[in-house]
Amino acid sequence: NREWYFAERPEGEPDTESFELQEGDVPDPKHGQLLVRVKYLSVDPYMRGRMRDAESYAEPWDVGDVLRGGIVGEVIESESDQYESGDLVTGNGTWADYSILDADDVAPVDSEIADLPAYLGTLGMPGRTAYFGLLEVGEPKPGETVVVSGAAGAVGSVVGQVAKLNGCRVVGFAGSDEKTDWLTEDLGFDAAINYKATDDYRAALDDAAPEGVDVYFDNVGGPITDAVFTKLNLDARVAVCGQIAHYNDEEVPVGPRKLPMLIAPRAKVQGLLIGDYATRFGEASEQLGKWVSTGELKHRETVVEGLENAPDAFLGLFSGDNIGKQVVKISE
Ligand code: NDP
Repeated sequence: NREWYFAERPEGEPDTESFELQEGDVPDPKHGQLLVRVKYLSVDPYMRGRMRDAESYAEPWDVGDVLRGGIVGEVIESESDQYESGDLVTGNGTWADYSILDADDVAPVDSEIADLPAYLGTLGMPGRTAYFGLLEVGEPKPGETVVVSGAAGAVGSVVGQVAKLNGCRVVGFAGSDEKTDWLTEDLGFDAAINYKATDDYRAALDDAAPEGVDVYFDNVGGPITDAVFTKLNLDARVAVCGQIAHYNDEEVPVGPRKLPMLIAPRAKVQGLLIGDYATRFGEASEQLGKWVSTGELKHRETVVEGLENAPDAFLGLFSGDNIGKQVVKISE
């Protein structure tokens, strides 16, 4: 059984030095546990926070820890009466060929609704984050303008589509023409801004959001957020989901720099954590699953092949290699 371990805390931009692949025995499940053959592994931006020796909402990894993350896999051996071998499940496992999971902490996967990798993206934690973050924190109303940063990623692509389903005008920021084309041509966004092709985000927003911004779903922070703050309408809501532009910073950046812009619109800025909605995950999964089944909600995954390439897949999140959800395929 191959497993990835945390080898070294990175400073600034991480590289492959932080990861070490080791070989060991396939573990034995204890009472209440499942041995799962991993098919797909999720790599996520929040894992950068776990590499830091600092207080955060996700517990830091210690050097020498096995790396953990969302997985979809097949039960090989069950020590629980809830699942039997052959069942497909998703839960929090390890970056490994085989992983032990507590039966109480996994959910079944229905491959009729969508292919397995979707359960790590649109039908998994990122989709639920988009669902609750947009609807509960953003509170979009029909006719309002919703702007989302990191729009072509796992969370952002769901935010924009759910906002469209709620009758909003939707504008996304993403880092390539291929991504902005996908947003407008396939996902129904009204406009999308390639932030790597312009320095003047404010002017781009003047065109894309001529009536101003009512809801801003922020996955990114930095200069994109500065620009959106200058366009907020009266009673605007800002949902702060992520700040990936700052995850590799060693110094705390100055700012937020545009706070004066919140005064006249009486804007509300609220952080959100998906874990807070744990008792309502069923509701989100059901609605997202329905929308995927009817084709109203599209999903896309970028698949890197092979456990040995998992660190590269993770590092690619910071250079925007992924369209939709980044996953790693571990086995057939
Ligand atoms: P994504 O699939 O969106 O992948 C990350 C994307 O971020 C990249 O594809 C890249 O796209 C973009 N990006 C990277 N660096 C920068 C930068 N410097 N400036 C602007 N964009 C950048 O990841 P997720 O959908 O999984 O997560 C999105 C955000 O939501 C993250 O910040 C994450 O931490 C946060 N999150 C928060 C949760 C919560 O409970 N609060 C739960 C889940 C996620 P591009 O090509 O456009 O640059």
